[in-house]
Amino acid sequence: MKLLRHGPAGREKPGLIDGDGMLRDLSGIVEDIAPEVLTPRKLAGLARIRTSRLPLVRKGRRLGPPLSGVGKLVCVGLNYADHAKETGLPIPKEPVLFMKATTAITGPNDPVMLPKGSQKTDWEVELGIVIGATARYVSKRAALDCVAGYCIVNDISEREFQIERGGQWVKGKSADTFAPIGPWLVTRDEIENPHRLKLWLEVNGQRMQDGNTKTMIFKVAHVISYISRHMTLLPGDIVSTGTPPGVGMGMKPPRYLKRGYTMRLGIDGLGEQCQKVVAYRKGL
Ligand code: ZN
Repeated sequence: MKLLRHGPAGREKPGLIDGDGMLRDLSGIVEDIAPEVLTPRKLAGLARIRTSRLPLVRKGRRLGPPLSGVGKLVCVGLNYADHAKETGLPIPKEPVLFMKATTAITGPNDPVMLPKGSQKTDWEVELGIVIGATARYVSKRAALDCVAGYCIVNDISEREFQIERGGQWVKGKSADTFAPIGPWLVTRDEIENPHRLKLWLEVNGQRMQDGNTKTMIFKVAHVISYISRHMTLLPGDIVSTGTPPGVGMGMKPPRYLKRGYTMRLGIDGLGEQCQKVVAYRKGL
């Protein structure tokens, strides 16, 4: 299933993409795509619905992030060998973890705002894992049972705030609109192998990132098992698994986002996102 949320920001309704690619409303079945809907039992119930009976939603309606109530957004840094190299940092021996504030979460095609004073805002296409069952000291073997599905995350990063201001990366990762998620939450059964997915990102139509999840250093099961030894993962949490090479910081000279630029990014089977870069403004 491809689950989603449609409608104005803060008032999204649940929906799905049916077998014919049509957007249909799920309001009559569930209140929202919320953490309690992501358990294996609830997802199995949704999968039994006859989608042809659901109301159609008009094309062009805004999509929100495909789930509500994200409790935490845990990210893995430097998880592609080539990307670690372009940043000039050593290949990590254990997963590098950091958090992104959940207030950064936004819809897949919403504008991305440059924070006040930003000179070095950068892009990162990533495979996101949506947790569907509590994971605490979970083994690698059992880790995938805790996965409800996958989504695209653009892990937008202000490199000066991230790297040149001391302390933790979280400062450069958490501005409002720095975590476009979606368009869909694609349930795990639809993704045969999460390590055979192409992922790409374009800025103003120019291909910047062109990777494949097969070159991930720490794989999905490893990452979930590892994180679950340091914190409990709950339904509705998202784990973003790192980015392939081609970020602006790694270019010579580095290239960063400016007002008016457009990002387009996608992952096999998970759809596409498109964001326009805008200046900071209150109340976006
Ligand atoms: Zn990242």
